[in-house]
Amino acid sequence: MRELARSGARLGIGRYGEPRPFYLGSLFGEGTPNGRRRTQHLGIDLFAPAGTEVRAPLPGQVISVSTNSGRLDYGGAVVLRHQSADESFGVLYAHLDPSSIAGLGEGAEIPAGTTFAALGAPPDNGDWPPHLHVQLMPSELEPATETPAGVADPDQFEALSSHYPDPSPLLNLPPQATWCAADRQALLDRRQEHVSTALRFGHGGPLHIVRGRRHCLYDQHGRRYLDAYNNVPHVGHAHPHVLAAVQKQSGLLATNTRYLGDSLSSYAERLTAALPDSLSVCLFVNSGSEANELALRLARAGTQGRELLVMDHGYHGNTTGAVGVSPYKFRHEHGPEPAPWVHVTPQPDVYRGSFRGDDAGARYASAVCEEIAKIRAKGGAIMGYLSECLPSVGGQIVPPPGFFTAVYQAVRQAGGVCIADDVQTALGRTGKTFFGFELTGATPDILVLGKPLGNGYPIGAVVTTEAIASAFARGPEFFSTFGGNTVACAAGLAVLEVLENEGLQQHALRVGDQLLTGLRELQRDHAVIGDVRGSGLFLGVDLVTNRTTREPASSVANYLKNRLRQRRVLIGTEGPDDNVLKIRPPMTFDAAAAEVLLTEIATVLQEDRAQADARA
Ligand code: PMP
Repeated sequence: MRELARSGARLGIGRYGEPRPFYLGSLFGEGTPNGRRRTQHLGIDLFAPAGTEVRAPLPGQVISVSTNSGRLDYGGAVVLRHQSADESFGVLYAHLDPSSIAGLGEGAEIPAGTTFAALGAPPDNGDWPPHLHVQLMPSELEPATETPAGVADPDQFEALSSHYPDPSPLLNLPPQATWCAADRQALLDRRQEHVSTALRFGHGGPLHIVRGRRHCLYDQHGRRYLDAYNNVPHVGHAHPHVLAAVQKQSGLLATNTRYLGDSLSSYAERLTAALPDSLSVCLFVNSGSEANELALRLARAGTQGRELLVMDHGYHGNTTGAVGVSPYKFRHEHGPEPAPWVHVTPQPDVYRGSFRGDDAGARYASAVCEEIAKIRAKGGAIMGYLSECLPSVGGQIVPPPGFFTAVYQAVRQAGGVCIADDVQTALGRTGKTFFGFELTGATPDILVLGKPLGNGYPIGAVVTTEAIASAFARGPEFFSTFGGNTVACAAGLAVLEVLENEGLQQHALRVGDQLLTGLRELQRDHAVIGDVRGSGLFLGVDLVTNRTTREPASSVANYLKNRLRQRRVLIGTEGPDDNVLKIRPPMTFDAAAAEVLLTEIATVLQEDRAQADARA
């Protein structure tokens, strides 16, 4: 109504087929076991002031008169059977003023052009802004004992639209009054024409997602997907506090670190306040890849050494330098050759690696020490050790206790520095600690941050010691055009504020524990679940074809991921064999979402088992 007043229009139109994700509540399917809401419009809405007269567009006969008084229901509703030249069909007119239709009797004849009702006002019209819902009904549904639903589950819209076709011709409305989904094939073709095929789709196939809120994504038809996958919208998709901060700062000033200002210092202060005293100097860039590149330059400036140890299966970014230190990329059959100064050391995976017992941490650390000794025996000098804190693409691994402390000690003794890539696991994700490295018990000399920092606004950061920072500052000026810009800092600060205000780290721990418990219960019933691991909202489910041999069940993982996507739940798969379910949702993911995720995984595992039984 406000929009009508603003534009001076006499009539507003709510289109046929329009996705309406704002339809919440049990009347629209919210809270049903499969959580599928009816959100796609099967009629046309005509918005006009309450009391506006409703006239019959064609001669009609009253089929039914009802008052549907529940909130968000139809209010007063009338079904008329109209007769055109060659056919008869029903039309539902809803959200009427109940008193205006009190005198209408079933069977009454309504001549064309006669007023038979008036638009209702909230709350009597179902508590909506005044409007008329007009929906065509097939004659075979008459006499309607129940008024039909006015919106459909998008998966059923196509089928239902043959029952309830577009009423625009009846209302003399132009074709624009009908909502049209973007043509999926045309979108695919356009992308293929000018976008590299090296950019792949996620979740096993193209999804057309048009909006996100908290831990939900919505496609162009209004289908809601539970997002258990995206970790960049850390405090939830489109968080209003972050949006407001970005909008406000963008409207004031967007400039770089060459000017004095409050946001850069405030952000650096706030980040370092959450870190151990030794990590006290910040540099800002735009991505995790750039942050790792910069970390390598800092390490080079801070030591005399050149040789770098990295953890197997690690990933540190997409730039030439970052790929060159990422075994996940350079060990790909078409990957680039790693530089001769890069040395791969084992990933401390206690489930499928070589060492699995209580002493695994020490034994994996010894393997790193042996590599250090080999390099030194050949006259090499150690520059440092780079690894993710909790390796993600390597399979959502939680390194065993003692591993990092022993490795960091050995690296430092050899004259190197320790670089922790905390791009995946910072800002409370693990629930137990604010930074991932804190969970490993060892403080790095260079900390690399990225993904969650800006909730979608691109920010990368490196935090290091005074000594390394001063050695680096002796070199040429470091300048990143966008890194540390005023808007990025405002976004970063806003994310830290939301984390604190909404207690999201503690929340992640609670929901993560709920998921771990639920997944371990599933593990008892399903032999395919070999291992459940992780902390907070950083979880992995390692699928196996055989619990003794731990043979990776990659195809089951792929089946699960795809079936869950079809059931509107998004997760990923990871690990060298792509057999580990990756769960790392926005931090707003709550108990209800966790319950849905567990139920859906259980349902799909059941399907897979039924298939296996059928094959046996
Ligand atoms: N490090 C890790 C651990 C990552 O997971 C990623 C991204 N997946 C990166 C670095 C690279 O970050 P970006 O894509 O922002 O360059």
